[in-house]
Amino acid sequence: MESSASRPLVIGAGMAGLAACRELERAGRSPLLLEASDRVGGRLRTESVDSWPLDHGFQVLLTAYPAVQRELDLDRLDLRLFDPGALVRKGGHWRLLGDPRRRPADLWPTLRSGIGTWGDRIRVLRLAADVRHGPIERCFAGPEESTAAYLRRRGFTSGFVRDFFQPFYAGIFLEPELATSARMFRFSFRMFAEGQVGVPRAGIEAVPRQLAGTLERTEIRPGIAVRSVDARAAVLADGTRLPHGGCILATPTPARPATSPPQPTRAAATGWNRCLNYYFRARPDQAGPSRPLVRLLPGGGRICNLHRMDDLFEDEDERGGESLWSVTVLPAPGDPDQPPALEEDIRTELRGRAGLVASTCLRAFAIPHALPRLADLRYQPDPQDLILAPGLAQAGDTLAHPSLNAALDSGHLAAQALLRHPPP
Ligand SMILES: Cc1cc2nc3c(=O)[nH]c(=O)nc-3n(C[C@H](O)[C@H](O)[C@H](O)COP(=O)(O)OP(=O)(O)OC[C@H]3O[C@@H](n4cnc5c(N)ncnc54)[C@H](O)[C@@H]3O)c2cc1C
Repeated sequence: MESSASRPLVIGAGMAGLAACRELERAGRSPLLLEASDRVGGRLRTESVDSWPLDHGFQVLLTAYPAVQRELDLDRLDLRLFDPGALVRKGGHWRLLGDPRRRPADLWPTLRSGIGTWGDRIRVLRLAADVRHGPIERCFAGPEESTAAYLRRRGFTSGFVRDFFQPFYAGIFLEPELATSARMFRFSFRMFAEGQVGVPRAGIEAVPRQLAGTLERTEIRPGIAVRSVDARAAVLADGTRLPHGGCILATPTPARPATSPPQPTRAAATGWNRCLNYYFRARPDQAGPSRPLVRLLPGGGRICNLHRMDDLFEDEDERGGESLWSVTVLPAPGDPDQPPALEEDIRTELRGRAGLVASTCLRAFAIPHALPRLADLRYQPDPQDLILAPGLAQAGDTLAHPSLNAALDSGHLAAQALLRHPPP
C-alpha cells in the first residue's frame, strides 16, 4: 500500500470515480475513494422494498455501450431485458411499435398500429443505417442542433414525432421539448439499435456495486464530504486537511468541492433536467398486454412513460396479487420536487391517459439533478478538460454527455491523465 500522503485521492464514488479507481489500480496504485453519501453509485441508486428493486428514477443499461462492455460482467448482472420498441396509448388502446428486424412476430401489429406513415418507417430504417455507419464519434460530429430540429430536418411527420419520438425521448432526455442535442439522440439511437436494454435483477445500483467489487487496492470511505481541493491536499467538511499524491474530482453534481484553480466553466452543466418516479400498485389485469415494454403516453401531460415491474421481474412470487408500476413524471416548471404534492394529479392522469387505476403508492422519488444540460456534447472528454492542474484531474458525465458510458470513460481517461500529469 502507498502511504496516505502519496496515494491518489478520488472524490465521488459514482461510475466515474469507480472507473477512475479501477484504472489507477491497473497502474499499480492504491487509491483512497471518498464519497459524501452513504454508498457507492452516485445517481445509480436502488431501494429494495418487498423484494422489488426500486430504482431512484427509471434508468436502463444499454449493453452496446463500449465502456460497459469493457468494465462490466453483464452475465453476472442477471439483466432483465426490455423488448425492443414500445406500447403507445392511442385512442384508448395500447398499440405496439416493435422492431420487426429483431422480433419478426411484431411486424404485423406494428404495421397495423396506426402510428407513423410508410414514409416514417422508411425514414426510421434510414436513420438506423446512418447512425450506425462509421465510428461512434460520428454521432457527435456536425453543428449542434436540437433533437426536435434534427427529426424535422430528416422529414419525420409531426404525428410520428408526437406519438413516438416525443414521449420516448422525453423519458430519456428528461425534458419534453426534445431540446437536447441531436448528438445525444444519434448516439442513443445507435446504442438502442446495436444492443439490448435491461435492468439488473437487483436494480440499477447493482452496476456500481459490481464495479466496486472488482476494486482490490482501493479504500472506499462513504459518508465523507470534501469541501475543497487543490493539487496537494483536500479539506474535508469537518475541516481535516488530507494531503494526497494526486486527486481526481469525480463529482459532477452541484455539491462538488471548490477547486483551486477553479473548474473551467466549459465543462460544467448549464442546468439539470429533473424527474419524479412513482411506484404504484394496481390490479394485475389493467393496462394492456403483459410484455416487458416501455409504455408511452403521447399528447402532453406530466407522465411520459411507465412500465409494469412484473413484466421484467416475472419470476418473483405474487406480492399480494397486485402489479407494480414504475411511472416516470416530468414535473412542469414551477412544480415542487416533493412527490406527495403531485400524487393525486398523477393518479388522475394515470386513470385518464393510461386506463390504470392505481392503489397504494409504494414509494416515490424526486431526482432534482438527474441529467446535466450541456452546451457542447462530445463522445469523450476533451483531454484539456481532464486536467485542472498537474496533480488535479476531473471526471464525470458533464465532461462529455449524460450517460453511464460517458461517466465510465471520463473516469478511465482522468486516471490516465493524472498519471501523465502527477503533482509537482
Ligand atoms: C433518473 C436518471 C435516469 C438516467 N437514465 C440513464 C440511462 O437510461 N442510461 C444512461 O446511460 N444514463 C442514464 N442516466 C445518467 C447516468 O446515471 C449518469 O450519467 C451517471 O451515473 C453519472 O455518473 P458520475 O459518476 O459522472 O456522477 P454521479 O453519479 O453524480 O456521481 C458523483 C458522486 O460524487 C459524490 N459527491 C458529490 N460532491 C461530493 C463531495 N463534495 N464530496 C464527496 N463526494 C461528493 C456524489 O455523492 C456522487 O456519489 C440517468 C440518470 C438519472 C438520475
